[in-house]
Amino acid sequence: MTEEDSGRSRNDRGKRGATGRANAEGDVLLEVEDLHKYYFERDTLTDRLLRREARSVQAVDGVSLAIHRGETLGLVGESGCGKSTTGETLLRLREATDGGVYFEGESVFDLAGEDLMAFRRRAGIVFQDPYSSLDPRMTVGQLVAEPLSVHGEPADAENTKEARRERVDELLERVGLSHSQRDRYPHEFSGGQRQRVGIARALALEPDFLVLDEPVSALDVSVQAQILNLLADLQVEFDLTYLFIAHDLSVVRHLCDRVAVMYLGEIIERGPTDELFEEPRHPYTQALLESVPRARSDERERAIDPLAGDVPSPRDPPSGCRFRTRCPAVIPPDDLEIAQEGYREVMDLRERLESGDVDAERARELLAGDGGGAAGEGTTGSDRSNGSDESEHGDRRGRRRASAVGEEARLREDVFEADLAGENRAVVAEALNSLADGERAEAISILRERFESVCERTPPVLQDGPHPAACHLYDQPTERRGADRTERSAGDD
Ligand code: SF4
Repeated sequence: MTEEDSGRSRNDRGKRGATGRANAEGDVLLEVEDLHKYYFERDTLTDRLLRREARSVQAVDGVSLAIHRGETLGLVGESGCGKSTTGETLLRLREATDGGVYFEGESVFDLAGEDLMAFRRRAGIVFQDPYSSLDPRMTVGQLVAEPLSVHGEPADAENTKEARRERVDELLERVGLSHSQRDRYPHEFSGGQRQRVGIARALALEPDFLVLDEPVSALDVSVQAQILNLLADLQVEFDLTYLFIAHDLSVVRHLCDRVAVMYLGEIIERGPTDELFEEPRHPYTQALLESVPRARSDERERAIDPLAGDVPSPRDPPSGCRFRTRCPAVIPPDDLEIAQEGYREVMDLRERLESGDVDAERARELLAGDGGGAAGEGTTGSDRSNGSDESEHGDRRGRRRASAVGEEARLREDVFEADLAGENRAVVAEALNSLADGERAEAISILRERFESVCERTPPVLQDGPHPAACHLYDQPTERRGADRTERSAGDD
């Protein structure tokens, strides 16, 4: 990671503005370099019996980021995109597959013994679910005191038990609870109070850095604001640095200095919070912002546009740009004349063909013509076949092509909402004809030949700079990252 990317010289100290928000001009406290966390599994009993290769689930795939002292970096994205795994792996709560994490320049993955214990004192976590993260058999006092006893704190007290009790009382008061609640059990508290206990526990060892893993998403909206205010106050009071993980962008905006957006194991955009919200660059960030209600009164009437489709499986992520299966801006070939909406629909159709969602019967329905999209018997002539030396395969394809030109008008209106016309429509009809004949691979090949996008061939790279986006709509380096990914997969096996 370059200095420009990390934002600052390591010797600059962090500063705070009047808002209490760090201005992210501090030295780097924690740096993550090319972090990978893969899980390996054999899918079924048959896989195991046949000794098939373990398949990797690419939960985190090459994440790099720098967190400056005193700032809050937001890590956002939909559920299942690898945010929590990133947070837990950089704290060494999970073992990384590859990459590095550096805390004040020291490699966290190389720490052992006393050094590792010291790191654990300085870097903690607040979990999402205050219901399951607290042991129900322990009192609140015991829960908050537990990290102190594990680390033998306070080490120099004459009466350790008494000193711990005082410390617990202090912490409970500081997070808005009362010391008189010390002997109660978690089930006697509300969700917000339980999260306050979780925060007190995380603060017990006076850390410098906290991963806040969706700390308010399990709480009522009215309680969320109270906990967010508490976290902001504590950050100023204890000079804390946060990695704030959230799927709710409206929460992130108020607490974070910078935001990194994650999709399917990768960071796809990063920038200062206000800039990223005002001028999101990556189509995924734009779609995420479109899908959340806005607090500003002038935007409350705006229609909310939900993000289409589901996050693909990290077991088998799409080639090239991982967002391409959902991206409304997916890039057509340079020489193809097609409206963006129509192109998205063609790509969706191809995805469905490839996943087996559209079978021969469905293809016949879509074509809805007499002969059900059959190969156009008796039709001759083709702009792809070539007279007497044509192979049998080419001949068949040529007849289908000619048939498709004739049948294009028969594609039902409900196949494409956009106005797909002319050659584009004819090629789609030709592909469906192939599918109707039971030749799925050929149908896919026909569509790929005309419609293949740079977005599926080449993975876009997140470059350096204050507000980069990993997308082919913006400048990209000439080297390709796909080769790296292929090599890594082979090596892991
Ligand atoms: S690279 Fe292509 S598919 Fe990916 S976000 Fe950019 S335009 Fe969309």
